[in-house]
Amino acid sequence: MFDNLSDRLGNVFDKLKGRGSLSEADVREAMREVRIALLEADVALPVVRRFIDAVTEKAIGSEVLKSVTPGQQVVKIVNDELVEMLGGDGEDAEPRELNLNAKPPVVIMMVGLQGSGKTTTTAKLGKLLREKHGKKAMMASLDVNRPAAQEQLKVLGEQVDVATLPIVAGQQPVDIARRAMESAKLQAADVLLLDTAGRLHVDEALMAEMKAIASVSTPVEVLLVVDSLTGQDAVNVAQSFTGEVPLTGVVLTRMDGDARGGAALSMRYVTGKPVKFAGTGEKLDAIEAFDPKRVASRILG
Ligand code: GDP
Repeated sequence: MFDNLSDRLGNVFDKLKGRGSLSEADVREAMREVRIALLEADVALPVVRRFIDAVTEKAIGSEVLKSVTPGQQVVKIVNDELVEMLGGDGEDAEPRELNLNAKPPVVIMMVGLQGSGKTTTTAKLGKLLREKHGKKAMMASLDVNRPAAQEQLKVLGEQVDVATLPIVAGQQPVDIARRAMESAKLQAADVLLLDTAGRLHVDEALMAEMKAIASVSTPVEVLLVVDSLTGQDAVNVAQSFTGEVPLTGVVLTRMDGDARGGAALSMRYVTGKPVKFAGTGEKLDAIEAFDPKRVASRILG
C-alpha cells in the first residue's frame, strides 16, 4: 500500500551520487518524502512540521558516510530522531515502567474516551501487576454513565483473577473512589486501578469528574488510554486531557490493527508524557511495553 521511505529517498538521491555532504536543497527535497510518509502514518500536522524542522537542521551539512548512500543516511537521521521523539531507547530512554513508588495502595487512574479500550486495559494491567510484578492489585470501575460498565470490569476481574470493588448501585464516582481506597487499604492491596468513565466526546462535566476523582485518590499514575486508529482525533483528546488532569503516561490501544503508529508520535509530542504501553489485541494478555524502535520503523514503512 505504501512506498517504502528508503526506496523513495533512493530515487530522490540517485542524482546526487558522489557528493560529500548533504546540501540544504538535497535535504529539503528529501523532507518532502519524509513529510508524506509521516502524514500517511497519521501523524498530526503540527507534529509533522516540528519533526521536519528538527530533522532538517540535523541533516543539512552532515557528512555522508562512505558505507551508505545519501538516501540511507537521511533515513538513519529520520529514524534516530523518531526514536528520540518517541521517548528514546536504551540507556537514554525516558522511564516507561509503571511508577509504583508510593505508600500502598498505589493508585493508578485510567482516563480516556468511551470505547478507547480503558476497561480492557485496566484488566490487562491488573493481570500484568499480579503476574509480572507480583503485586496484589484491586480494580474499581467509577463509570456510572455507561450501563453495565461496572459489571464489565467485574467479569474481566474474574478472568484475570484480580479482585474488583463490589458494586453498590446509585453511588457516585467520587464516593466510589473513596470506598475503593478504603477497601484497598483494608485488603492490603499494593495497587488500586481506577477505571473512570469515558464519553463519546470530551466535555466539561467529564473533566470536572476526572479532577474530582484525582483530588480524592491522589493517583501516582494517570494513564490516558487512546485508540491508535483514531489518528488526528487522538490529538484533540490528548490536548483536552492535558492540563486538566495530571497525566503521567499514555497507553495506545489497537496497535494490532492497521495503524501505522503515527498516533504514538503525536501523543508523545502533545502530552509530553511517555507512551508506556501498547495494546495489541482483545485478549487480556495482549499488552506490551511501548517500543520506540519498533514503532519508528512502522511509521517509516
Ligand atoms: P472503554 O469504553 O474505553 O472501557 O473500552 P473497552 O475496554 O470496553 O474496549 C472497547 C473494545 O475494544 C472491546 O471490544 C475491547 O476488546 C477492544 N479492545 C481494547 N483494547 C484493544 C486492543 O489493544 N486491540 C484490539 N484489537 N481491541 C481492543
